[in-house]
Amino acid sequence: MARKLKGIAAARGVAIAPIVHFHTTLDHIPTWKVADGAVDAEKARLQGAVDTVARNLVQLQHELAGSLGKHDVRIYDAQLAILHDQTFQRDVGNEVEQHRVNLEVALQRVIARYEGVFAAMENPAMRERAADLRDIGRQLVGALVATERQKYTANGSDYLFAADEFLPSDAGLLDRAHIRGIVTAHGGKYSHGAILARSLGIPAVVGIDQIMLESSTGAQAIVDGDAGIVILDPSAEDLADYEQRLREQRAVDRRIAEVRFQPSVTPDGVAVGLFANAEGVRDLDGLEVDVIAGIGLFRTEFAFMERRQFPSENEQVVMYRRAMEGAKGKPVTFRTLDVGGDKPLGYFRMPEERNPVLGWRGIRLCLDWPDILYTQMRAILRASALGHARILLPMVTTRSEVVRCREVLDQLKADLKATGVPFDPEIELGVMVEVPVLVPVLPDVLPIADFVSVGTNDLVQYLLAIDRDNQRVAKMYDPFHPGVLRVLQQIAVAANTAGKSASICGEIAGDHWFTPILVGLGYRELSMAPVFLPRVKLMLRSFTLAECEGLAARALAMSSTGAVRRLVQEEIQPRWSQKLVTGVEEVR
Ligand code: PEP
Ligand code: MG
Repeated sequence: MARKLKGIAAARGVAIAPIVHFHTTLDHIPTWKVADGAVDAEKARLQGAVDTVARNLVQLQHELAGSLGKHDVRIYDAQLAILHDQTFQRDVGNEVEQHRVNLEVALQRVIARYEGVFAAMENPAMRERAADLRDIGRQLVGALVATERQKYTANGSDYLFAADEFLPSDAGLLDRAHIRGIVTAHGGKYSHGAILARSLGIPAVVGIDQIMLESSTGAQAIVDGDAGIVILDPSAEDLADYEQRLREQRAVDRRIAEVRFQPSVTPDGVAVGLFANAEGVRDLDGLEVDVIAGIGLFRTEFAFMERRQFPSENEQVVMYRRAMEGAKGKPVTFRTLDVGGDKPLGYFRMPEERNPVLGWRGIRLCLDWPDILYTQMRAILRASALGHARILLPMVTTRSEVVRCREVLDQLKADLKATGVPFDPEIELGVMVEVPVLVPVLPDVLPIADFVSVGTNDLVQYLLAIDRDNQRVAKMYDPFHPGVLRVLQQIAVAANTAGKSASICGEIAGDHWFTPILVGLGYRELSMAPVFLPRVKLMLRSFTLAECEGLAARALAMSSTGAVRRLVQEEIQPRWSQKLVTGVEEVR
């Protein structure tokens, strides 16, 4: 029977396909009863998983041999020994045989038993082995699940990605030609997983707590990224309704795509630069550079997160040069490494923090580890010789942080000049405005910054005290809050007064319902995932500057988020519907 699960609408669109579970934790794993005649086949799955994990470990050991000491590399020997331990393998097999449970469950039980034994030991070195065991268990389950999901993903069929979270490192795994939708147990509309889904143009629903328990790999489902609904085992009637929706969606998309090559101007000729956000070099591959003003935000950390160790300076130069070449002379804004908080870096050990989002992250972390900053800025400088590069600093809280970064930049420029390495001496240094306290001190910061870019995803999270990753409070994360709009106005006024450019690179820049208001507040540069560009352009071309200013003034005077939303529904939505001709879309 069809079951409807409600979550958070994270990326627009509808998708119909079988669900495939992507997860590698030991917490919830697929569970089934093994039939009497299937025990041997079930036990035989272990060997394949052991081989895969052993191969990965040896490869990792080999890759890291240059950068880790002899002692550290031996950790992998200990893991390989556990993996090949005959008693361990026999115990797992016995668990399947005696209790008729699938291999994933047997592994989970045996690991938990062994862990208990190690954890009770006096010797701290032996207690440490418990962590190795857990890690091996996680990898084995991961390998088993990967083999299962390949049955659905390797044969060129469409599928829906389901997992606890959608992580930046997952983006590299996906078969983009066949992934049709994303559904996750955790996250909010502004978490990085949701941002990624939107930038990939994949319909997504996040924050359905029960999704991994309620669904199973291979089950047919509908992801409705507009309404934030997932329907498991849909009825024939549901399927017919959604097939119709898909047809309408395609017609609307065609209408919107017509504006692609038209100028980004209001009907009275006010130009607004529409830039693209990029999560990595591969985003530039299919990008229509002719229709963008440049790259307004290159999130360099995503490339760092997909790797197993820090990229060297030369490796970074290669990546940044590729981005510069892809942008064909248009500006590329490289944001320096923004890890920490909700973006952990697997190979860089960070302390446990109670409030990571208020902790060691962004430029704070890089200034404490100047090597990271030096290497990255040097690499960006070297790539800058190819065109127009800009450097953007994340999570800036004080003027002194910008001063220190400028000193680093000046020092690096002097070094490069002395050694005859080419770079752009005029490279601009910009500041992200995402920590609220920076707003009142902007008049002090702007003289030493070349530009500012507003990171509304974090700015709104900090202004509203709402964790952007927490689905329980996701409803309250609403950038239409009049307080947020007033702060955005303050930033635009400060930048325009100082004669510095101010752009918005958070998600609201790509949300067409905001476009007239942002223009009315004084923004002339918006940077967004390229998929949103046609919608934003169509909206921009629908309201004159005077209309935008009138709407912004009215929104600023409102006393509640609801009132601002009503204004958008009553004044902006009807004109949008007229423009679409073929369909009606609601404000979300
Ligand atoms: C932001 O905070 O708005 C932003 C653009 O950065 P990120 O989403 O990567 O934190
Ligand atoms: Mg941010």
